[in-house]
Amino acid sequence: MEHGRSPGYTLREDGGVRCTLCPHRCLWTPSNPRGLCRVRGMELYGYGRCLGTAVDPVEKKPLRMFRPGTRVLSTGPPGCNLFCSHCQNWRSSHGSPPTRYIPPRELAELAAATSDGLAFTYTEPVIWYEYVMDTAPLVRSLGGFTVMVSNGFVNPEPLADLIGVTDAWNIDLKGWRNGFYERNCRGGLEPVLETLRAIAASGTHLEVTYLLIPGENDDPGDWSEVAAWVAANCGEDTPMHVSRYFPGYRRNTPATPTDTVYRASEVFRRHLRHVFMGNV
Ligand code: SF4
Repeated sequence: MEHGRSPGYTLREDGGVRCTLCPHRCLWTPSNPRGLCRVRGMELYGYGRCLGTAVDPVEKKPLRMFRPGTRVLSTGPPGCNLFCSHCQNWRSSHGSPPTRYIPPRELAELAAATSDGLAFTYTEPVIWYEYVMDTAPLVRSLGGFTVMVSNGFVNPEPLADLIGVTDAWNIDLKGWRNGFYERNCRGGLEPVLETLRAIAASGTHLEVTYLLIPGENDDPGDWSEVAAWVAANCGEDTPMHVSRYFPGYRRNTPATPTDTVYRASEVFRRHLRHVFMGNV
């Protein structure tokens, strides 16, 4: 192992170890030592194993109202705890992408040398819990900030730890029906809503992305409910990105008509002050 870290948020059980980091609560056993996310298991297989690094404008994450005009060094882990049928990064999330081990201090120094901050993005950073907890404080100590671009499918206690060391989050709210999460993502809606509430309550900068997939989560009645929920639970000033879907991975539904994104944005604006259109 390149690092000396052991997995946090685990419980010993007869026959194995239960991971309590995310709602999947995988049981790691000697014959099945990795969790669904593939990054965590009997060992931290993905600790520091970075997909490529790239410098991006922070607006691209997307974060439109957090330190505008700054740049972030982006990277992410080779796995994910959701299995979205339309994943645009499936080769990194569920394939066997090339990675490079970067120790926390080296990544923090690279971020300081090239950018204003660091973004954990591309796949799902909460499953990199230990690596984020080790790296983000170093980024701060060098004068930078840390951004998380996440699906929000994480349990409250590790989330609280992560909020404590990071500066801004974009949460992908993938739909408004639990059935959609179960069918399309192998996840659930309620933990994501809890995550949104917790980040907002902490005062940490929060933006939300809602990707419109035709026939799946583009019911106009839902748009109004989503917007009203975000306004009531996270605040009317929460920036919302209403985004256009494109076919990919296991889904070949045609791309969202641009007109749908315009119409949805109008509905979101009845409840929220800052609504941005994505991928149009
Ligand atoms: S973080 Fe990974 S190993 Fe842990 S419960 Fe979630 S999917 Fe399973």
